[in-house]
Formats: sequence, structure tokens, C-alpha cells
Amino acid sequence: MNIPFDNSYARLPEGFYTRIAPRAVASPALLAFNTGLADEIGLNLDYTAMAEVFAGNEIPEGADPIAQVYAGHQFGGFSPQLGDGRAVLLGEIVAPDGQRRDIQLKGSGPTPYSRNGDGRAWLGPVLREYVVSEAMHALGVPTTRALAAALTGEPIYRQEGAVPGAVLTRVASSHIRVGTFQYFAARRDVEALRALYDYTAARHYPEAAGPADFLRAVCAAQAELVAHWMSLGFIHGVMNTDNTALSGETIDYGPCAFMDVYHPVTVFSSIDAQGRYAYDNQAHVIVWNMAQLATSLVPLMPDAEAAIEEFTAIIHAMPALVDAAWMRRLGAKIGIAEATEADRPLIEGLLERMQAGRADFTNTFRALADGGARDQFLDPAAFDQWQPEWCARIAGEAEPEARMRASNPWVIPRNHRVEEMIVAAREGNFAPFERLLTVLAKPFDAHPGAEDLRRAPEASEVVQQTFCGT
Ligand code: AMP
Ligand code: MG
Repeated sequence: MNIPFDNSYARLPEGFYTRIAPRAVASPALLAFNTGLADEIGLNLDYTAMAEVFAGNEIPEGADPIAQVYAGHQFGGFSPQLGDGRAVLLGEIVAPDGQRRDIQLKGSGPTPYSRNGDGRAWLGPVLREYVVSEAMHALGVPTTRALAAALTGEPIYRQEGAVPGAVLTRVASSHIRVGTFQYFAARRDVEALRALYDYTAARHYPEAAGPADFLRAVCAAQAELVAHWMSLGFIHGVMNTDNTALSGETIDYGPCAFMDVYHPVTVFSSIDAQGRYAYDNQAHVIVWNMAQLATSLVPLMPDAEAAIEEFTAIIHAMPALVDAAWMRRLGAKIGIAEATEADRPLIEGLLERMQAGRADFTNTFRALADGGARDQFLDPAAFDQWQPEWCARIAGEAEPEARMRASNPWVIPRNHRVEEMIVAAREGNFAPFERLLTVLAKPFDAHPGAEDLRRAPEASEVVQQTFCGT
């Protein structure tokens, strides 16, 4: 297989990674290949070799497989040594659009960073990441993407029992995390930290004049990202600093989910007992994560005290950035082109009624343009009280319906549908997987015949928790 690799990360100093090949597996079988993405990034691959390559049995020419090292705060506690425990970066390619992208195998076997893990992934989370990351992309959210999924032909052992092993091939602008900076900062390896900074700034923020500017740019990208998630009811689930990418892309889909009924403290992850990563806490946690990045950048500055002062101001400015992005997006969701502070009561008034009325997040917003919004509320009268003021506000807006339909998806990957898809796939039925991919590729369009994918779960269908189940 011929992939035009150009492996810049593997040219960084040794301490940044360990060279390691994916572990060969028993019986590779290709489950999915994303031809649209392959075209976009200029990959023209030979089908016959794909199963072997995307299960990790064959290393394509020019690849230089490495496991990257990083650290990170996991649920607030610092782990000085993490890393790709079950992933290898095959290499990078520079797409026709000039963008450099990583091609990574996830679930490809143990590495020196596996700790007690088996280095593997099972079919369920691989298909979940495939479907949800591709849906996020179609929704317009910056994200890593799924290029391929393959079965290994080997069972692995999880809470669920023996489950089929699988490998996801992930494409990312990079896999550099806040935790990558923390790793070198915690070791006080300023030389490596500088090399990482120079590399990351050149790759993602070439216009940044120095670490302060760089920090400002990462904060801006992350503020946009998290506000975008929240505007879609998305809950990442594990916003540890090792799962926060410097590129501003959504990364590491684990126990993530979209909300059904609107409730601001919704938590999905079984391991998030305190609700640290609850829906509405995401706006705060991302600021906390950026403060960890800021701390890691201080050793690069000639005057630590001055740097702390400057970085503190940047971090203190971040909640307003998240809020501004949130206002703009929520405003658009109710048809307003440029929402201002004066519109906050209108937006919050709707959300409060949605919460009290147990309204479905996605369907209520979409119904503002399509009709039937009041039927989403336990007490439709609550909506009727809100509506006149809203109508008056958008009366002067140009094409508010079109704006709402472009901001409010018709369909999102509902958690119960994703779980149902996984159950079917375990039984060898991939039709639900294919169907989700097809419909979710155009989430803002109406899909007659796919109304079942829009429906909120019945009480018996609600998935209360998504296990890390990785
Ligand atoms: P996550 O919370 O999934 O982002 O993973 C946190 C850390 O655990 C990372 O360093 C992963 O590489 C590692 N990890 C997760 N699952 C496994 C596994 N099955 N085997 C080895 N390492 C793992
Ligand atoms: Mg991770």
C-alpha cells in the first residue's frame, strides 16, 4: 500500500515517543472504510490491502509507527506518565489542501504506555467513535475523523464479557494534547518543552508571536469548540487534559453522548461520579484545562512572574470567550443573526422552560422552524408564554427559519440508537451502523423514513450510563 507519509513527529527527539509497530492479529476483516475522507485527504488506497493495514498486520511503506508519550489530569488528579497505551501513529500525510494530518491506529496492541491495559479496543467503542466523530464532522464541529474500522478476529475481555477486538483508524490534525505539554513541564525538561512548543506552534498556530499569543489562540479555539458542543447538546464525558487537543479538535470519544431531554447537569459517563464533566460544567472545565496548559508554558518565558501575570489575564478572559460563542450559537438556534446581551433572557427563558417541561433538546430547537415546538413540553402553556416575545424579536431578522435549520440538526446520534447499533453489530448485523452513517452524514436535512432515529428514547430505552467500555 502506498501512502505518501511525511513523519514530522517521529523526527522530534527520542523522548517524545517510543518506536513500536502495531501487534499482528489473527484474522483481519475490514468493516468500514471512509472513501469520502480518503478523497478529501488525497489517499488513493488499494482495497485488497486494507484489512491487513487497518488491523495492524501490515505496515505500509513509509510509515514510522510510534506511540506518543503524554501526561494529564484525569478527573482532576495528575498522572505524570500516560501515553498511547493502545494506539500507534502510523505517520502523517500532507493533504492536497496543504493540511498535515496524523493517521493513527487505535486498538493496535500494547505499548510501553499500556500500564495494566491490554492495548486493545472492542467493536462497540470503535463503532461508536466512528459514527459519532463522523456525525460531529457533518454537524460542522472540529473533530478527529474515522478513516477505517477493522475486526481483529480476536476476542478481548471487558465488563461485557468476551467481545470482538477491533481497530479504528483515526485521522487528526495532530494528537498533541494539553497533557503532552504537561509531560515535559512536570519533568522540568525545558529543552524538550521548547521543542514541543516550536513544533506545535509551527503546525497549528504559525501566526503566534510567542507562548502568550499561542495560549490565547488555543483558548480561542477551545472556547469555540466547547460552545459548539454545548449548542448541540453534546457531552464529551472525559474532558481530562490528555483528551484536550491543541489543534482545537474534539478528540477521544469515550462515554460521550448527546442529551435527549434538556437538563444542564446531565452526566453520562459511569466513571464521572462527581459530575465533573456534566453538560453545563464543560464551559468551566475547559478553562481549568487551559490553566493547566498555561502553567506548562511558564518555563518557556524569561520572566516567570511576568508570564504568570500575563497568562492569568488570558485565562481570566476565557469564560467570556466561551460565553460569547455560546450566545452567538444559541442566538442562531432561535433565529437571531447576532445575539447580544439583551437577548440572554430570551435564550435562558427558553432553556428554563425546556428543563421544567422535560423538552427534548434537539427536537425542540428544530421544531422552532419546522413547527410543533410546543408539543415538546410537558406543559405546552409554558412555551406559549415564551413564544410572543420570541416572535417579536425575530420579526426583523432576515430568513430566521433558514438560520435555525442550519443551526438545529434534524437528527443527531442518539445514545440509545448508538447502543442499539452496537448490539446489532455484535450479532454480525451492520445495517444499523451503515444506516446511522448515511443519515448522519447530512444531519441538517430532513430524512423521510428515518423519523425513528429522531425520536427521543422511551423510558425503557434510555441509556442511563455509557461505560468507558473502552
Ligand atoms: P482515555 O481516558 O481513554 O483517553 O485513556 C487514558 C489513558 O489510558 C491513555 O493513556 C490510554 O492510552 C490508556 N488506555 C485506555 N485504554 C487502554 C487499554 N485498553 N490498554 C492500554 N491502555 C489503555
Ligand atoms: Mg485519551
